[in-house]
Amino acid sequence: MRAVTVTPGTAGSLSLVEDYPEPATDEGSILVEALAVGICGTDHEIIAGHYGEAPPGFDRLVLGHESLGRVLEDPTGTLQPGDLVAGIVRYPDPVPCPNCAVGEWDMCRNGQFTEHGIKALPGFARDRWRIPPRFAVGLDPALGRVGTLLEPTSVVAKAWDHIERIGHRAEWQPQSVLVTGAGPIGLLAALLATQRGLAVHVLDLATEGPKPALVGALGATYHSTKVDQLGFEPDVVIECTGAPSVVIDVMCQAAPTGVICLAGVSSGGRTIDLDAGALNRTLVLENNVVFGSVNANRRHWDMAAEALARADQSWLESLITRRVPVESYAEAYTPGPDDIKVVLDFAA
Ligand SMILES: [Zn+2]
Repeated sequence: MRAVTVTPGTAGSLSLVEDYPEPATDEGSILVEALAVGICGTDHEIIAGHYGEAPPGFDRLVLGHESLGRVLEDPTGTLQPGDLVAGIVRYPDPVPCPNCAVGEWDMCRNGQFTEHGIKALPGFARDRWRIPPRFAVGLDPALGRVGTLLEPTSVVAKAWDHIERIGHRAEWQPQSVLVTGAGPIGLLAALLATQRGLAVHVLDLATEGPKPALVGALGATYHSTKVDQLGFEPDVVIECTGAPSVVIDVMCQAAPTGVICLAGVSSGGRTIDLDAGALNRTLVLENNVVFGSVNANRRHWDMAAEALARADQSWLESLITRRVPVESYAEAYTPGPDDIKVVLDFAA
């Protein structure tokens, strides 16, 4: 069968293997036919050789952690043949740490977790894959092709879950949200904000392309100004750019008791001038919280499935700006100027 693979650590090793072995039964009892795989920045980092780890005994890593498939067989009866399914990316570490021991593998303490398509588990960019029932998330059949958005939505569902837990440390009546960065994560974070009835603001540098209209279609306000020119103080910030100056600016801009969730990964190596004393003073005197958020556990995947089912399906479809057949995989992994989300199509 076909599989899109890389040799981890070797830039330019992306290739389509035509005779990749069928998934081993010990990968899980549910056998799935791949329909599509979403592509994100992590895939680009793995292709560039910066990241990624092949499974033990393998030289190559199958890419793909944003999955959508159709169940071929499930002897456990958890799902039915024909059901739409997505596979959870991260598995708990074998020790396990206190968090993994209770199913909170998104909060793993020792870093020994594994991840499909990223770290020591084969990804979903292959014709067939297997998954244990515990890591299989059934999808509303109405979602159809936008089901590949479940993985990035699980990431923002986790961010919102933790924002709300932090907010409720005291009386909390948030009104406004600022999302910085209108990529897939930022747009899905904004979607979940509108589902909470909040006034949603999205800030991004782009003045052309699909982003302003996608934000407008949510009933949210689009800004292409600097953070300190916004003219309001958000109660919640979800920072999705990872840009150092934006990260610092949103910490200063948040309202008193504000919750600032950092969800963008910086590349590092760039330094900026920072008055750490003034920043500390703002955070302390306003009871602000800044926290990082990554990945998602089973509860967040289920929350994400519910959020997508409630969303406008045509809006979700418009986030997917390119669908590329697997034979043209190299095109799919070459970023384009107006890309929001690119999907590799196995069913075409
Ligand atoms: Zn762990």
